[in-house]
Amino acid sequence: MKYEIVIGLEIHIQAKTKSKMFCRCDAKYFNAAPNSHVCPVCLGLPGALPVPNKKAIEQCIRLSLALGCNINMFSKFDRKNYFYPDLPKAYQISQYDLPFGYEGNVSIDLPGSREKQIRITRVHMEEDTGKSIHSETKTLLDFNKSGVPLVEVVTEPDFSDVKEVLSFAKRLKQIVKYIGVSDADMEKGQMRFELNMSLRKTGEMELPKYKVEVKNIGSISVLEKVITYEYNRQQEILEKGEVPVQETRGLRDLSGVTYSQRVKEEANDYRYFPEPDIPPIIYTEKEIQELRETLGELPTEKKTRYMNDFGVDAALAETLTATKAKAEWFEKAIEGVEDKELIVAVGKWFVGEVVALMKASKSKLSQLKIQPTQLVTLIQLLKSSKISAPSAKQVVAAMFESGIDPETYIQENGLEMVNDESAIQAIVEKVVASNPKVVADMQKNPNAYKFLIGQAMKELQGKANPQQVDKLILARLTSGSN
Ligand code: ZN
Ligand code: MN
Repeated sequence: MKYEIVIGLEIHIQAKTKSKMFCRCDAKYFNAAPNSHVCPVCLGLPGALPVPNKKAIEQCIRLSLALGCNINMFSKFDRKNYFYPDLPKAYQISQYDLPFGYEGNVSIDLPGSREKQIRITRVHMEEDTGKSIHSETKTLLDFNKSGVPLVEVVTEPDFSDVKEVLSFAKRLKQIVKYIGVSDADMEKGQMRFELNMSLRKTGEMELPKYKVEVKNIGSISVLEKVITYEYNRQQEILEKGEVPVQETRGLRDLSGVTYSQRVKEEANDYRYFPEPDIPPIIYTEKEIQELRETLGELPTEKKTRYMNDFGVDAALAETLTATKAKAEWFEKAIEGVEDKELIVAVGKWFVGEVVALMKASKSKLSQLKIQPTQLVTLIQLLKSSKISAPSAKQVVAAMFESGIDPETYIQENGLEMVNDESAIQAIVEKVVASNPKVVADMQKNPNAYKFLIGQAMKELQGKANPQQVDKLILARLTSGSN
């Protein structure tokens, strides 16, 4: 490829709080009647005074810590001035030079078990704006969203490939949900991306002289489409020997096609200055430490622990830790189990069979009828050759349907493996006797007898160990007493 992508991201995440950022209005506005969650503060009426939401600030600091950031112990809010109908006070309360978090980094997974560190520039707190609803003849305004707490994460321009961006977006969403900062439900607009993108000749080191910003990207799949579209658009301009205009571009639909909205403002166009109605926010080391302790084990820490302690491979560890709920289910299952091989097998059956059944029936983990320890019991029966692998699949499906205990189901349906050698021997005799042609074919093709294994397994309804059947048939045929 002649051109290399340079991308930085800004992500707005709606913090999970009961009330809004600077007033006591209910922050849960989704599907609420327009302008039903408003008050003088979030409507920006003259004289109304903001009171910061401590819980929201704590969420911002917790995310900063989870992203490996340093924390500004002395921090403050600033006014970002601009006029827009959905921002009636003509400024957004945000943070400028002293964000709560700065200089972090996040490790992302790339194909071929590669990892890359993405540097986090800053993590700051701000309020959301209202919403403009445009029709052909008029614009309506809904202020339910106005003043809802947002945590904004800004990265360095460290992404050079669309895969890296997508991997990061998924990782960030995963971390946010793990530590409970937000539900990050993109369909409800709880996580929105902004892309800063330019191209440089492959191999060039310095940043390009321009960058294009694309705002309000509401899903990871649209993010991917926008990057592809912008790559082609910018490349075409560069090929002509021109430089793409530094501007903000928007989206009309979900196709990824962008259009020019406005030439980009500089930071000083916003005339940032300290918010005079809110005193500085000061934290102590001890308070930050206490917040750090609320994080729990982060997904990448969990993943590494699974790999080190259980010998699970990277891909399986990644799937098992994809959500906190999944990881907790798995951990409950293997609690007290010491046999690593068993742990790996339980992990494989959990993500392979159980999660597949959940996906097929579109059900959630919270509705799962299989008890974690029952899955371990089943895998133990499988590993000790009490049942065959096809039977085990049948049992999992039954457990999934009704929550039945595996041992009960196996007994009721007669799925125990036939371990009695004389019983298998009897079937072998029968199959050999009824297939003289196959036995004769063995003179020319020593592998012809393999057919008989299938026949015998069928007679045994799959409830025997195929290796044992193989051995017995071969012994019978080579004994010469045909
Ligand atoms: Zn309010
Ligand atoms: Mn912002």
